[in-house]
Amino acid sequence: MLVGHFAVGFAAKRIEPQLSLGTTVLASMLPDLVWSICMVAGIEHVEFKKAIGAGNYFAASDIALSHSLLMDAIWAALLALAYFRLRRNLRGAWVLFAVVLSHWVLDVVAHRPDMPLAPGIHTLLGLGLWTSIPATLVVEGGMWLAAIVVYVHATRPGSWAGTYVFWIVVVLLALLWYNNIAGPPPPNPSAAGISSLIFFSLTIAWSYWMNRLRPARPPR
Ligand SMILES: [Zn+2]
Repeated sequence: MLVGHFAVGFAAKRIEPQLSLGTTVLASMLPDLVWSICMVAGIEHVEFKKAIGAGNYFAASDIALSHSLLMDAIWAALLALAYFRLRRNLRGAWVLFAVVLSHWVLDVVAHRPDMPLAPGIHTLLGLGLWTSIPATLVVEGGMWLAAIVVYVHATRPGSWAGTYVFWIVVVLLALLWYNNIAGPPPPNPSAAGISSLIFFSLTIAWSYWMNRLRPARPPR
C-alpha cells in the first residue's frame, strides 16, 4: 500500500495535533523505510514479475525484518519510546505506536499472502486488495481522499508554499500510486531499494515542512 499509509499519517496528525505531520508520516511509512534500508544492505529481497491486477508484479520473498508483525511491533515500540523520551507526550507516543502497527494491518489487506508474523515463522498473510485495480482505487483512494479533506480543513496555509507545495506533492503522490498499481513493473528492480529510500526520505521531509507551512486552524 502507498497512499493508504500516508492517509493514516495525516489522520494521526488530526488525532494528536502535538505530533508533527513529519513524525506521523514517518511512523506510517516506517516498515517501508526499514525495508528500503534492508534492500540497499542486501538483507531483504523482492522479485518483480508481471501478473494481472494492481501492484501484482511485486513479489516479496524475505521481508520478515521490515514487515513481520513481531518486528513491526518492535519498530513501533522503539519509535514511540524515542518520541516519549524527547517530548514526554504519552498520548503522542501511543498514537505513533498504533500508526506503525497500522502499516502491517494495511499491508495484510493490500498484499497477496506474503506478510509474515515473525522471522522464522512460515505462516504468510494477505487479503490481496491490490489484485483488483477498481477495489484498490475505491478503498485506498478513498482513504487518501478522506485524509486530505480532513487535513485541509484542520490546517491553514501560512504562505503560498503551504498551498502550492502541498497540492503539487499530493497530486504527484496520487499519480505515483496509480502508476504503482496499474503501471508496468519498474525497469530496474535492483535499484528499487535505493530509489525507495530516496522517495521515502523526501516524502517524510516534505511532511515535516508542511507541518511548519500549514499550522492548525484556530477553533471556531
Ligand atoms: Zn509496506
